[in-house]
Amino acid sequence: MDNARNFYINGAWVAPQAGTEFAVIDPSTEEQIETISLGGQADTDAAVAAAKAAFPKWRLSSRAERRELMESILSVYRKHSDAMAEAISAEMGAPIDMAKVQQSGTGTYHLEGFLDAFDAYAFEGPLRPGEEDTHIIKEPIGVCALITPWNWPMNQITLKVIPALATGCTMVLKPSEQSPLSGILFTEIMHEAGVPAGVYNMLNGDGPGVGSQLSAHKDVDMVSFTGSTRAGKAITIAAAETIKRVALELGGKGANIVFADADPKAVKQGIIRCFNNTGQSCNAPTRMLVERSRYDQAVEEAKAAAEATKVNAASEEGRHIGPLVSEMQFGKVQDLIQKGIDEGARLVTGGVGRPEGLNRGFYVKPTVFADCTNDMTVMREEIFGPVLSMMPFDTEDEAIEIANDTDYGLTNYVQTTDPAKARRVARAVRSGMVDMNGKARGAGSPFGGMKQSGNGREGGHWGLDEFVEVRAIGGWPVE
Ligand code: NAD
Repeated sequence: MDNARNFYINGAWVAPQAGTEFAVIDPSTEEQIETISLGGQADTDAAVAAAKAAFPKWRLSSRAERRELMESILSVYRKHSDAMAEAISAEMGAPIDMAKVQQSGTGTYHLEGFLDAFDAYAFEGPLRPGEEDTHIIKEPIGVCALITPWNWPMNQITLKVIPALATGCTMVLKPSEQSPLSGILFTEIMHEAGVPAGVYNMLNGDGPGVGSQLSAHKDVDMVSFTGSTRAGKAITIAAAETIKRVALELGGKGANIVFADADPKAVKQGIIRCFNNTGQSCNAPTRMLVERSRYDQAVEEAKAAAEATKVNAASEEGRHIGPLVSEMQFGKVQDLIQKGIDEGARLVTGGVGRPEGLNRGFYVKPTVFADCTNDMTVMREEIFGPVLSMMPFDTEDEAIEIANDTDYGLTNYVQTTDPAKARRVARAVRSGMVDMNGKARGAGSPFGGMKQSGNGREGGHWGLDEFVEVRAIGGWPVE
């Protein structure tokens, strides 16, 4: 990749001023596939300065100009969609067919969604009808630092870059150092689409380096962060000194409440959802709570579905799951599986070690634990691997109590054919999102969590709201 070692600052690819080298590893083969640079303070300062200098002009750009740029990005992105899937698949291990449809597809999906939200968005208007002399203006907040994870790279990058552009902000993107190739390709797309110099800048770097430097920077007005709850806390502390806005999309430990009257396929679908992206999704339904009368059967169904889940290299076509992203994640997931066994959860299938026939690559056995209790580590910690933890419940109230007994609050899932119960339980669980009976939320829905899953809301007009300051002006001369 031509620009692997460079950063994109003020409309041009530049060599790092303070860079160190970092190896990009293909998790399917454990082979090094690229070398990138991790930036230092001088690079961070240069990128922030470029964004700061570009802000006064981009802040005043017209609606038509911003729309035209978004359309241009969409059309260039479409051209490179398969190359994007290949980059993501190689850097973080998403199987190629899944990477094309789901991973790369999120970029197009969010670009289209933000064009719709932008067209319907009122940037200014009267406080209320009859009070036209009080005028409300939604203004871009300023220079934004956008810090993203590796698990759904294009999903997170477009959920931040596009609304920041649409609202008139300028920005510095720092993609995850584990998935930098998609970030570099995305930046090439932005350049080809004609983003004005300085409006969009991109640096590679790690958390303690560029990540912390951006969070603490006095000329950064907002940090929009997606990643672990651990890093979210560090960013909040680093940002406090300069009172910048911090929007956080963090981890999750979603409960999937399966009532006895649920659709016969509910358990199998729950496993597929939990293991999608090799279990590396913040909104994965990783705790399956099953009504006792259906529990034994559900454990058998989960075992069958997990054992039917194929594991293979990301480059292979097909509907298998791939490896975990890195050796570090592999080690972490192995430790958590061992902890589940040690703490007395019943190992139904899977376990520690690699699946048979896969001796190289960060592959994990699709694993199901049953008879868990809610104090076990496998029920409390985000595992980020293909691991499901199951537990029975007797009453609706008990299911709600278990679902809510967690530090997280991102997505919960409800499976029942009783509409009144569905509504009751959806209201009672404490999470930013609830998915019921396998139905997706509509395009433009807000994505975000409660409690330690963060405070952000991405997508739709809520995603634009995150990047604006709301101003109120009295005595506005009415036209
Ligand atoms: P991570 O927190 O390790 O890293 C995320 C990003 O933050 C990377 O770019 C990293 O370099 C940077 N970073 C790390 N420490 C930092 C620090 N101290 N200061 C500033 N930046 C720092 O997370 P990850 O392992 O890349 O991603 C997985 C996590 O992301 C999971 O916890 C997952 O649940 C979460 N996630 C949440 C959502 C959501 O929308 N809620 C979506 C996807 C992923």
